Amino acid sequence: MSDRPLLLTPGPLTTADAVRAAAGLDHGSRDPLFVAQSDEVRARLAGLVGDPAEWAAVPLQGSGTFAVEAALGTLVGPSDHLLVVINGAYGKRMVQIMERIGRTVSSVAFPEETPVDPAAIDAALAANPSISHVAVVHCETTTGVLNPLAEVADVVGRHGRRLIVDAMSAFGAVALPDDLSTFDAVLASSNKCLEGIPGIGFVIARRAALMDAQGNSPSLALDLYDQLVRFDKDGQWRFTPPVQVLSALHAAIIAHAAEGGVAGRGARYRENLSVLVGGLRALGFETLLPDAVQAPIIVTFLAPEDPAWDFGAFYDALRDRGFAIYPGKLTERDTFRVGCIGQVFPEDLRRFVEAVRAVVVALGLTTLAPAA
Ligand SMILES: *Cc1c(COP(=O)(O)O)cnc(C)c1O
Repeated sequence: MSDRPLLLTPGPLTTADAVRAAAGLDHGSRDPLFVAQSDEVRARLAGLVGDPAEWAAVPLQGSGTFAVEAALGTLVGPSDHLLVVINGAYGKRMVQIMERIGRTVSSVAFPEETPVDPAAIDAALAANPSISHVAVVHCETTTGVLNPLAEVADVVGRHGRRLIVDAMSAFGAVALPDDLSTFDAVLASSNKCLEGIPGIGFVIARRAALMDAQGNSPSLALDLYDQLVRFDKDGQWRFTPPVQVLSALHAAIIAHAAEGGVAGRGARYRENLSVLVGGLRALGFETLLPDAVQAPIIVTFLAPEDPAWDFGAFYDALRDRGFAIYPGKLTERDTFRVGCIGQVFPEDLRRFVEAVRAVVVALGLTTLAPAA
């Protein structure tokens, strides 16, 4: 078995040697070198959304969900009302967070295998004037579906509400809309399309929205307002920063820029997607989603109808050949997922398709088409 399989997952991902090497250096958290690195990471993250004078990046210790919980608790105050747009597990998680912290939440839900529908959001906002904010997931990693963010933002803007976007799995590879006037925050993490190592979630928020949010957060550790004030004062994290993770993220962001930023990285992932989907379809597998709504992040394949199909055996056989895939996350249908993000290149996906071909033979799978 390969010691270091290629991770074809939604994160943590296969990372570059330079990124892991950057994590191999210790820094003191008050050391000027670390503070400068942290400043640069924050400025570059903000710059991926807009003018760093208008947008502030607030990184936090933890995984992406920590940033989601921090953003909702800080930006949606006790007298506000959040509408969560759901078409998968990550939308549902935002509702759970709001319920747990005792803030007002409603939701509008769509089937997992379709993008969210701006017209239904329009109707929900028209029917409920108390809704102040809308939260939506850019790429729902549950299935890999890409939501129509520009159209959603447009509807939110027409109703004069504010938008919070969980862009976790798409940030750095799928462009944000040109018009961000209704956006209050974009949320992501170190270990997805920026290709860093796990340990930092971050919120890139409109500075004015955060400055209005003093006292909102029900959590001390997750208070983005407090952390921004501290960054503004002396560049320090309030609590022990994940220094090695930050250094790795610094190296990863420089590599991202060198690859051509969002456009360059997105182009590689789209090519990965095309090799992956073309290759597995040629073998007889089918995707859950039509190409038009598939994000170049992770692909859900339908499990074959063949009675010999067993995800565990399929996983193990691919793992033996050096590839780690991901289980499906749908409640209704048996599926598996394959990611196209990370330090993974079209030639890797070609090797993966060949490995799948060999595994299909080895496992004696004859019917790869899914059950009707
Ligand atoms: C990965 C991800 C998250 C955060 O998940 P963690 O396990 O906390 O890192 C949130 N939303 C989406 C859409 C994601 O893909």
